[in-house]
Amino acid sequence: MSWEIIITGCGTSHGNPAWGDLAWWSTDPRDARRRSGAALRSTDGRVVLIDTGPDLLHQLRDPYRQWDGVSYPADAITRCDAVLMTHDHADHSHGINDLRHVNRLMRRAQRALSGDAHEPAPSIPLCGNHEHLERLRAMFPYCFGLGEEFYSLASPALVTRSLVDDIETTIAGLPVIPFAMSHGSAGRTTGFRIGDLAYLTDLKELPAAADRHLRGVGLLVLDMLRDEEHPTHLCWAEALAIIARVQPQRTVFTHMGPEVRFADFSQRLPAGVEMAVDGWRAGFAATLDLK
Ligand SMILES: [Zn+2]
Ligand SMILES: [Zn+2]
Repeated sequence: MSWEIIITGCGTSHGNPAWGDLAWWSTDPRDARRRSGAALRSTDGRVVLIDTGPDLLHQLRDPYRQWDGVSYPADAITRCDAVLMTHDHADHSHGINDLRHVNRLMRRAQRALSGDAHEPAPSIPLCGNHEHLERLRAMFPYCFGLGEEFYSLASPALVTRSLVDDIETTIAGLPVIPFAMSHGSAGRTTGFRIGDLAYLTDLKELPAAADRHLRGVGLLVLDMLRDEEHPTHLCWAEALAIIARVQPQRTVFTHMGPEVRFADFSQRLPAGVEMAVDGWRAGFAATLDLK
């Protein structure tokens, strides 16, 4: 049994390319980026999503971005064992409603297996910082079986699972350590160490306390918005400084802005650093070794 990560979206909050200004436009398909998110998939069928951005439907139907848009999407994600939420910003959470369809598919599969038409639906745990989860429950109560009577008749599609910073936990069989990061003036986000993978997006500063969780990282997925400094995201120079500090074996940039052209930036990448494209995938080890 092995795991892979798929970067199902590597674009910043507006998606790429942005329309309305030709300077932002690009005809290079590698610059067409959905809002940022990822899926972790195991060979035994488990799926853990990282974030549920506004493009989630498209990311679930076509995670590798190889689908022709017409034929049956054979690679589609039809199951979700858990979601790791980095934070509650719209570009990371406003596709949450699409999980209700996944929950419906999971319920159908479970009932087909058991033959019991009344078996309760499995709920999808949304895992993250307590305050982020509370805000999502307030914004989308019906997804959690709260609020209007019509919706509360059905089993809730989602349940929340608050994670404690700096404490290792197991999520869908994966060892996960959540930890706090600074999103600059936009508050806090949660970084995740998952086996030998680390997923750090929407950060401006990485607290010193995070270093011990990042020892021995094989693959680092890292926020890199653009060349110019930004109050809430890592720019190019800041991202390179984090790489020098963490020393991962391999790094891939995500959450890139429309100014970041694949053709230009891919020429200047240091060894061991790559730019994601939507559908980028790599294997990772599901074991935690902090040496
Ligand atoms: Zn974001
Ligand atoms: Zn954000």
